[in-house]
Amino acid sequence: MKLATYSDNGSDIRKIGIVQGETLTDTGFAGTMLDLIAQWDAQSDAVARAAGAGQGVPLSSVRLRAPVERPGKIWAIGLNYADHIEESKMEAPTRQVWFTKAQTSINGPHDPILIARDAPFVDYEVELVAIIGKRGKHIPADKASEHVFGYCVGNDVTERMWQHAGPQWSLGKSFDTHAPIGPWITTADEIPDPHALDISCSVNGQKRQSSNTEQLVFDIWQQIEHLSGAMTLEPGDLIFTGTPGGVGAAMDPRQFLKAGDVVRCEIERLGAIEAIMAAEA
Ligand code: ZN
Repeated sequence: MKLATYSDNGSDIRKIGIVQGETLTDTGFAGTMLDLIAQWDAQSDAVARAAGAGQGVPLSSVRLRAPVERPGKIWAIGLNYADHIEESKMEAPTRQVWFTKAQTSINGPHDPILIARDAPFVDYEVELVAIIGKRGKHIPADKASEHVFGYCVGNDVTERMWQHAGPQWSLGKSFDTHAPIGPWITTADEIPDPHALDISCSVNGQKRQSSNTEQLVFDIWQQIEHLSGAMTLEPGDLIFTGTPGGVGAAMDPRQFLKAGDVVRCEIERLGAIEAIMAAEA
């Protein structure tokens, strides 16, 4: 099932729809995607029935929002594809390297990404994002898939100067609009192997990143085991699972995103998110 958060007719009211091809059908669910994920066992049949009975509208006629707009947590792993470690000229980590992104950095899949004042070194990082379904602490890797609700495409947008201004990266990862996700959640049952998906990013039509999630250094199950060793993972929490090589900061000369650039992030079976870069007002 492909579950989208959307609004229509210029309204800010959020609704939950099911995407089938180029059609979106409202589920009638009264609540946010976070609510739906938390109540999934009780609600999934009703949601599927509502969508089956509904009329449906062209997907292009609605405004897609970030599928989860206020996740309880956003964790992201650094240096998790071999080619990205090499281009970063950093040591391959023996332990997982984690940072947070602020909740307020969440952005819609097609909304502009802002280049903030005095923070011009903005870069893209396409990433597979796992969305937690079932709450858990100390989740072993071999049970981790049971805790994943679904997947979507993410862009771990990063301001490189702020990222490296101190020993941890979170501020440079947390600017407003710097966590676009979407275009919708594809539930885990539709993705039998999340470690076998082509993943790519292009800027103005030029391919910059191109890899496959089989290249992850620490796989998603190891990531969930590690994070849940520290804290309870809850429904709707987001895990950005790392970016492959090809980021702008590693190009020669370095290339950062500028206003007007169009950034497209795509993952096999999950769809694409695409945004125009814009200067912060
Ligand atoms: Zn990243």
